[in-house]
Amino acid sequence: MRDRVLDILANEGVLLEPSAAELVLARSDPVDFVRSALASMPQQPLVLTVDDLRPYADAPVVRIVPKALEEVRNGPPAPLPRGDGDFCVLRDITGNSTCEGNIIDFARYFNDRFKKIKKILSTRRELVGCLPVPKATKFDREVRMIAMVNEVRTTKNGHKLLEVEDDEGRCPVLILKDSPLINESIVNDEVIGIVGKTSTKGDLVVLNELVRPDLPLRRTMQPSDSWTSVAFMSDVHVGSNTFLHKPWDRMVHWLKTEGKNEVQYLVVPGDVVDGIGVFPGQEDELEIDDIFAQYESLVDRLKEVPDGIRVIVQPGNHDAVRPAEPQPTFPKDIAKLFDSSISLIGNPCYLEIEGRKILSYHGRSLDDWIGSVQGLSYNNPMEAMKEMLKRRHMAPIYGGRTPLAPEKEDFLVIDEVPDIFITGHVHGAGIGEYRGVRLICASTWQDQTPFQKMHNFNPDPAKLPIVHLGTGETRMLDFN
Ligand code: FE
Ligand code: ZN
Repeated sequence: MRDRVLDILANEGVLLEPSAAELVLARSDPVDFVRSALASMPQQPLVLTVDDLRPYADAPVVRIVPKALEEVRNGPPAPLPRGDGDFCVLRDITGNSTCEGNIIDFARYFNDRFKKIKKILSTRRELVGCLPVPKATKFDREVRMIAMVNEVRTTKNGHKLLEVEDDEGRCPVLILKDSPLINESIVNDEVIGIVGKTSTKGDLVVLNELVRPDLPLRRTMQPSDSWTSVAFMSDVHVGSNTFLHKPWDRMVHWLKTEGKNEVQYLVVPGDVVDGIGVFPGQEDELEIDDIFAQYESLVDRLKEVPDGIRVIVQPGNHDAVRPAEPQPTFPKDIAKLFDSSISLIGNPCYLEIEGRKILSYHGRSLDDWIGSVQGLSYNNPMEAMKEMLKRRHMAPIYGGRTPLAPEKEDFLVIDEVPDIFITGHVHGAGIGEYRGVRLICASTWQDQTPFQKMHNFNPDPAKLPIVHLGTGETRMLDFN
């Protein structure tokens, strides 16, 4: 055994100092340990000493895949392999719902949104000295205020007229038709910063500058010592008769072989089953027409994912949870079908995986964004995700296609800047970046349905976006 191990290593050009050989041979995995340690070293020494190896002796050994190996060799200070990793839910609505659905709830809900986004806007230089709406509009000079948009309309002369409101009052804000701001898409119920001037009559404010909460300008995802990747797999739609069995099997095969060395987390951001009665005529498009049987089939499929990969499942608008957002995680009778190793989360949800903050949102509101903001389309959902980040809210528009539950706290505010922001729902696939945040739209495992065909909607299925948690590098695998 001893000679064989040293021979293998010598053949790979690895020489060991005698005490280093003792350390290596004392392990149950001597060859893998040395290979793994070497891959993590910024420079390969001619002869390995105990001091070279000791930093790696306590860490679990991860088999090195060629790409990861390249990354480590070219990357900054030797990252340590992290075998078990760490994962936690930072925040979602599960167990925190206070919703009673009366008028007072809505006032409280919008008030919480206003307060949270106002706090972000208050740090902006352009808004220093901003005043409450009734006070600001009394002065015949430059006006700065923070307010929520109640209404946007175009006047018969081609100007735009907003009605804005804060917790003390409301006022009209005019955007002149020749203003560079005339084409800004301002959506209902977003919170904005206003720099303007009161009109001579004093009955409205003319907008000169629009300030959005947005993300900090100079923000990057600093490399960390995490050694693994997270994969995203949205809109599985198990139970649909257009579920893509073959691409799914190819993807699972990849996870079982190459993938398990690269990926340790798999996030499934909603529409995990096709559901029952979600749209008219759905019964004709189902392969499994019982909701429990759909989840059982999903659970069987997830059992094929290797044990070393942690699976995190979130509901979407097709799932058996309340449709109003934020959605708590799956109810007990569904949750008990899942293996206890699978983590079930709400929608949206802030997660932390190996020190990276991830905001996972199924993305129902993408329909409202695409319908309300000029220039957005289903072909490029990442552009709509940027609009969310600029406004620091996932679904501001009340009364659109996204049902909102008036919780005490607005869980759809993006009050913390994530490292990775992920959506699904639109069955598109894409990777983007906005001010250091990785943007992921996580494809689907359902082929075009007759309903989608009728609406001329072309999905981009069977893709698996992956983000390396250490380097932030992204890639997209295609299982078509
Ligand atoms: Fe879907
Ligand atoms: Zn959906």
